[in-house]
Amino acid sequence: MAGWLGALKKTRSIIGKVFSAKTNIEEMEVEEIEEILLRSDVPARLTMEIVDELEYPTRKASRRERLTAMLLKELGEAKTFVWQAEPKPHVIMLLGVNGSGKTTTAAKLAKRAQGQGLKPMLCGSDTFRAAGSSQLKLWSEKVGCDFVGGEMGHDAAGVAFNAVDSALEKNCDVVLVDTAGRMHTKTPLMDELPKMCRSMNKRLEGSPHDVWMVLDASLGQNAIIQAKQFNEVVPLTGIVVTKLDGSSKAGFLFSVRTELNVPILFTGLGEGEGDLVPFDAVAFVDALFG
Ligand code: GDP
Repeated sequence: MAGWLGALKKTRSIIGKVFSAKTNIEEMEVEEIEEILLRSDVPARLTMEIVDELEYPTRKASRRERLTAMLLKELGEAKTFVWQAEPKPHVIMLLGVNGSGKTTTAAKLAKRAQGQGLKPMLCGSDTFRAAGSSQLKLWSEKVGCDFVGGEMGHDAAGVAFNAVDSALEKNCDVVLVDTAGRMHTKTPLMDELPKMCRSMNKRLEGSPHDVWMVLDASLGQNAIIQAKQFNEVVPLTGIVVTKLDGSSKAGFLFSVRTELNVPILFTGLGEGEGDLVPFDAVAFVDALFG
C-alpha cells in the first residue's frame, strides 16, 4: 500500500516547494508562498490568513510551526469511524459522480469490514447504465462477499430494498450501497436518492445509517461544489476522498470543514483493495511539508 508521503507526491511537488526540508520557508517571500498555496487549491480565505500570519516574524515559533498549527486547526477534530454493532446491518450509501471511485471504495470498505471480522454485503444499485453493477459484482467475487445487484432499467430503490432484506436474512453486519454515478445536474437521478433512502428505511428503520460522498481529489475545489449539491438532496454524514495519490490539488481538503461541516473519514491512496486508510490530519499535513 502506498504511504502518505508517496501518495501526496504530486501535491508535494507544488506545496513541497514551500514546506520541504530543502526549502527554507522561513526566508521565502510571502507572495511566493501565497501563490503556491492557491495553486494547490488551498482556499483563498485560509491562504490570506496564512499570509497575514507569516508576514510578521515572531520569535515564539517558526513559520513552519505556525503553518502546521493553522492547517491542523482548519481540518478540525478528526472523527474516527466505527462500524455500528446495532442495529444490524450498518447500511452505508455511497454517492458521487461517475469515475469518482465509488465502486472501488465500496469494495475497499467491504475488505476493511472483513478485516475486522465483519460480514459485508455489496449492493450494486446502478440501474442507469448497462452493466452498471457488473464491476461491483466482480469486486464482490474478488473480496469474497455477498452481492445484490440490479439490471439496467430496474428500480434502484427496489434493488436497495432487496439488498437490505437479503442482508438481514444472511445476517450481514454491513451493507455498502453503490449508487449510479450521477451528475448533480441530472435531476431525475438526483431525485432517485431520497427515494432509495425511503425504500431502505421501509425495510430497516433508520437505514441508510450513513450517506457518504466519494470525492475525486484531482477535482480540487470543484469537488466541494459537487458535495454541496448532493448535500442538499440527501444530508451527508461523511466524505471519502479518493485519488489523493494522483492529485496536485489536495489543498481543497482544507475547505471541507468550513464549507460542508461533514467529516473526512477515509482517503484513497491507490487503486488496490487495501489502499483505503482512515483520514489522518497530522499525517496529511506532515506529508505536505515533505
Ligand atoms: P465510480 O464510477 O465512481 O464507481 O468509479 P470507480 O470505482 O470505477 O473508479 C474509477 C477509476 O478510479 C478506476 O480506474 C479506479 O481504479 C480508480 N480509483 C479509485 N479510487 C482510487 C484511488 O484512491 N487512487 C487511484 N489512483 N485510483 C483510484
